[in-house]
Amino acid sequence: MALLQISEPGQSPEPHQRKYAVGIDLGTTNSLVATVRDGSAEAIAVEGDSVILSSAVHYGKDTVTVGAEARARAVQDPYNTILSIKRLMGRGVDDIRRFGDQLPYHFAGSDGGMPAIETAAGPVNPVQVSAEILKTLARRGREALCGGEGGGLDGAVITVPAYFDDAQRQATKDAAKLAGLKVLRLLNEPTAAAVAYGLDQGEEGVIAVYDLGGGTFDISILRLSRGVFEVLSTGGDTALGGDDFDRCIATWLAAQAGLGADLDAATQRRLLGCACHAKESLTSNEQVALRYGDWQGVLDQVTLAELLDPLIDKTLRACKRALRDANIGVDAVQEVVLVGGSTRTLRVRERVAQYFDRPPHAALDPDQVVAIGAALQADVLVGNKSSEALLLLDVIPLSLGIETMGGLTEKLITRNTTIPVSKAQEFTTFKDGQTAMAIHVVQGEREWVSHCRSLARFELRGIPPMVAGAAHIRVTFQVDADGLLSVTAVEKSSGVSADITVKPSYGLEDKVIARMLQESYTHAAEDIALRALREAQVEAERTLESLLAALRENGAQLLEERELNQLERAMEALRLAHNGADATEIRRRMETLNTLSEPFAARRMDASIKRAMQGHRLDEFDQ
Ligand code: ADP
Ligand code: MG
Repeated sequence: MALLQISEPGQSPEPHQRKYAVGIDLGTTNSLVATVRDGSAEAIAVEGDSVILSSAVHYGKDTVTVGAEARARAVQDPYNTILSIKRLMGRGVDDIRRFGDQLPYHFAGSDGGMPAIETAAGPVNPVQVSAEILKTLARRGREALCGGEGGGLDGAVITVPAYFDDAQRQATKDAAKLAGLKVLRLLNEPTAAAVAYGLDQGEEGVIAVYDLGGGTFDISILRLSRGVFEVLSTGGDTALGGDDFDRCIATWLAAQAGLGADLDAATQRRLLGCACHAKESLTSNEQVALRYGDWQGVLDQVTLAELLDPLIDKTLRACKRALRDANIGVDAVQEVVLVGGSTRTLRVRERVAQYFDRPPHAALDPDQVVAIGAALQADVLVGNKSSEALLLLDVIPLSLGIETMGGLTEKLITRNTTIPVSKAQEFTTFKDGQTAMAIHVVQGEREWVSHCRSLARFELRGIPPMVAGAAHIRVTFQVDADGLLSVTAVEKSSGVSADITVKPSYGLEDKVIARMLQESYTHAAEDIALRALREAQVEAERTLESLLAALRENGAQLLEERELNQLERAMEALRLAHNGADATEIRRRMETLNTLSEPFAARRMDASIKRAMQGHRLDEFDQ
């Protein structure tokens, strides 16, 4: 009998078949690479013992240097030392024209639409600069995992800010490709942080990720449901971070030490260095002794809190805005995750805990959380873990439906439905004798088709002519495991059918999805009212149309002049109401018209029965 190979759940059965995957936090100032080893994720040393690689690239005539060594050259060789390249990713030449003069580089026009920076090594574009950083990280990852031997890495998950748009994400992917990396997925930074704390394994709920770095603040509100993260909103400040803490403390220091307001650059730099040192040592000390020239003093937690509170207030106001954008109250937030070096500041932790009324997750190194989350996700995606742990792949991000009369959407599959899935619904014709039906497949949460995303249009032809409402057209939506949607329409009596296949998620980036969802929340009430109005209007149109047709046919024979006038007045009143915006009024007028036209309908029925029976003996109908 064959032996069963026993393996730990979640581990691949044969260790030598394990794939090598890394998670990369490609940051503005610093970048990190992490991997899962022996079941736990850890950052890999990239510069000596340090796991942090400075996101700096220096271009010499024949040399490219990456990391701390490159950053150290920024002062003496600014034009050839590229810093903060992340801010230029996905940006066009036009963008550079707008804010390029604030950057210390020589721009050399366009490189395929991308800005080119003039360096000693020739012109380079942001994708190439990022690729240098990625290459360094990949090399360190490879050395740590497989001793630099063999085929190298099987894949990488690279993180990007949640607010990155399509162009910025594409540029990041291009950089990875240029660096020879196989991108398993781009992952939103806040999502990666939540994954690092295992929050993807938890219950459904809302998670706030508070990321305060050196120069930027980002707040992201995520919703986790059935193992899937949605970005509900993002916010922050691109010019607020630990550097501002340093400036604030330095100003206080200057005042304490009796220095004037006009300080030279060297003094300012010394003060800033001293402030930064004091700030950082206060995360593990009650107070810190300071000395500047002849002056000696003390900075304690109370004073530090007083100094920093106005800046922390600013971040909390951004949190409030993000919550408002997500349409939720602060009490709906179940988990708070801290990211970024500046969240080590005790006062920041205290205020964040106070604001959200719960202790934030802070056990992991706030510099490493994003890379660690990315590594955990890479490990799953590369196939080292059971596929149940997959994220973001297994649901429909936005509802799928078709356009119905009056420009409304009818949702067949609602968002967050797990795939694969198949749903069908019956529709009918609007006009008598209608032989074709246009089917417009749309994606989105809004009631109006014009507010949703158009996915495909096709036609069902050859419907046998029938009176309006008599045809049964069955429309089936089927989404397979890869997210591929096929739509089939069949007319039941004749069996005529038509179908189309679309890829609904193609090109839909998280941000677009988030925006579309956001809009549907913001406009929900308005949409419900609009829908009621539009439905009443469509019904009114249908009533008017069929009554007109009937009147044309035998109104003159079956109605007295007085009745005819009365009907026409009621029709006119309904037409007027139809052009207005009051659904209740339309419904009222429609009722009046229906009551008035009842006798006419009855007489028409009698007449048609009479007609049908002409020339037949009554007993023919008894069989
Ligand atoms: P970025 O994401 O902008 O590159 P980081 O997340 O690396 O920035 O955070 C850098 C900031 O964290 C700096 O302002 C630094 O002074 C601050 N920082 C680092 N360690 C501490 C500490 N122990 N206490 C307070 N602030 C710290
Ligand atoms: Mg950061």
